[in-house]
Amino acid sequence: MTEKVRCLIIGSGPAGYTAAIYASRANLSPVLYEGMQPGGQLTTTNEVENFPGYPEGITGPELMEDLKKQAERFGADIRFGMATATDLSAAPYKVTIDGEKVIEAETIIISTGATAKYLGLPDEQKYAGSGVSACATCDGFFYRKRKVAVVGGGDTACEEATYLAGLADKVFLIVRKPFLRASKIMQERVLTNPKIEVLFEHETLGLTGNMVVEGADLVKRRGQTDEEKVHIAIDGFFLAIGHKPNSDVFKPWIETDEVGYIKTVPGTPQTNIPGVFAAGDVADPHYRQAITAAGSGCQAAIEVERYLSEKSL
Ligand code: NDP
Repeated sequence: MTEKVRCLIIGSGPAGYTAAIYASRANLSPVLYEGMQPGGQLTTTNEVENFPGYPEGITGPELMEDLKKQAERFGADIRFGMATATDLSAAPYKVTIDGEKVIEAETIIISTGATAKYLGLPDEQKYAGSGVSACATCDGFFYRKRKVAVVGGGDTACEEATYLAGLADKVFLIVRKPFLRASKIMQERVLTNPKIEVLFEHETLGLTGNMVVEGADLVKRRGQTDEEKVHIAIDGFFLAIGHKPNSDVFKPWIETDEVGYIKTVPGTPQTNIPGVFAAGDVADPHYRQAITAAGSGCQAAIEVERYLSEKSL
């Protein structure tokens, strides 16, 4: 089963939906596949306070629903499905959806975003769904009046710790460095919250518990002369240590950096393949914001329009 399209957008975060708004308004009849997490990472964010145009803030799911509706209003064809294989050896490029359907696309906008990282401890698998989570806004509800730990020292970790402190009785923030990397305002929220205890220079060795998480074994100042083993009693263990770009399915063809971020011509969404563009977090190790993702989605759609009209396609 093969279908031909002029503009295929893969991924449904702010980058994908913005690309779909611009591409549909340019009459490119874009087809967008939403991927595993329709709406992308923002659907697991609680309050978005920094997206321009929302002086009172907006929830992540509402923002994404609005962007989707805006794209559909101009005729974007938004579908559920995942790109499972690609052949970008020559245009039209072939993308297999869900291992079955093949789309032949004159142009592609890759906006597949990034996925939460785990520490790589066997216990994360062992207690998956039984106390281990990478999304406080998804799972925090289950830990009302309980004790939880969040790992990480960036904005995500601080945001999740603050969110969880609104539900749980106690939140440990496990930070491997002696300082937080998060923005000043997020740091302040954490450091002034009486329910949050920041454990600087601590690393996680493993989790304990019978069937569900009941505690975590930590080490303080690992490798130092005053190294110390620490045990904390917790019911939930939340990872907030960054993300991995979702670029694997394109890797045989598309150049990425060592982490997997798609390389683009600086200042543009152009990849190493003509007519294939990358927008949003999958190509952005630096900013990773909803608004920068949306901006790059707009750029990608404009580039698609120019590419197609230059080729009279
Ligand atoms: P970051 O990469 O900024 O931070 C990751 C954190 O996890 C760091 O403190 C890092 O420690 C720690 N870490 C990484 N690997 C490990 C490990 N193996 N063990 C223990 N700790 C580890 O990721 P974020 O997801 O926090 O943020 C990504 C981007 O999104 C940033 O640009 C951020 O500003 C932005 N953001 C903005 C928000 C907002 O404005 N509302 C909300 C959330 C994110 P170390 O410092 O030692 O490397």
